Amino acid sequence: SIPLTFFAGIGGASKAGILVKGSNYLEILSRAKILVFDKTGTLTQGVFEVNGIHHNDMENAKLVEYAALAESASSHPISKSLQRAYGKDIDRSRVTDIHEISGNGVTAKVDGVTVAAGNDKLMNSLGIPFIPCHSVGTIIHMGINGKYAGHIVISDIEKPHSKEAIRELKAAGVEKTVMLTGDSKKVADHVAVDLGINEVYSELLPADKVEKVEKLLSTKSEKAKLAFVGDGINDAPVLRRADIGIAMGAMGSDAAIEAADVVLMDDDPLKISKAIKISRKCLRIVY
Ligand code: ADP
Ligand code: MG
Repeated sequence: SIPLTFFAGIGGASKAGILVKGSNYLEILSRAKILVFDKTGTLTQGVFEVNGIHHNDMENAKLVEYAALAESASSHPISKSLQRAYGKDIDRSRVTDIHEISGNGVTAKVDGVTVAAGNDKLMNSLGIPFIPCHSVGTIIHMGINGKYAGHIVISDIEKPHSKEAIRELKAAGVEKTVMLTGDSKKVADHVAVDLGINEVYSELLPADKVEKVEKLLSTKSEKAKLAFVGDGINDAPVLRRADIGIAMGAMGSDAAIEAADVVLMDDDPLKISKAIKISRKCLRIVY
């Protein structure tokens, strides 16, 4: 039978905005030693600002319009930012043949023109030669009718509590912090150094994230538990694969909330160490 204290633990956590889906997760949480994070929407706000537009001969406004329309079916934070930058209602009847390539970008036809919006990998896969960009930020390259049309630089900012959250986890005895992201090495390294994350892997596809987690699982001791924290845009499989999956509940996707074992209702990364502390307190009372 489940000791009553476990219910108290789950109740206490829920009052703090931490939804724990079962008493067994409190025990796993109490032993979390490796904390693996997704970047966008988890440690960063996932709210991008358009900072710079560099193009060949198309007007800035037209480039953003093509990007926003091509991205109109995507729920990715990059897509939402481009819609905001466009600022007008999207007429979906102008857009056809939409394909979203997870971890790469999108392709679509806008007013019959073929548009590709995404990263280096997308341009390479379409055979569109692009001009490398050295800005710090996420680069959205634009291909129009198979030719390079320029790029849009957008950047995301860290959540206000991310740095403190990493510090608190280390203070609570977490041995290793890892960040996995599909974003560029430049952006990823910058965030990881700033936050004090121990290991960082960038330019990963969703399947690569699962592989990294499996590698980390296979090299740790049985007693140390691995937690993955994500917002679920592309990372539901990793949330399931970890010893314990923690999802951002407010901005995160429904798929994440479903795949996760613990949900942070307000997306605050500081709640991770709080959850670990609640779980340990509860286990001390039981044993
Ligand atoms: P993260 O791991 O940081 O959550 P994703 O796996 O969602 O990132 O995306 C990785 C990268 O793929 C992005 O940084 C971007 O370059 C590109 N990308 C993904 N989705 C889109 C999209 N809808 N539009 C443009 N680029 C995208
Ligand atoms: Mg993500």
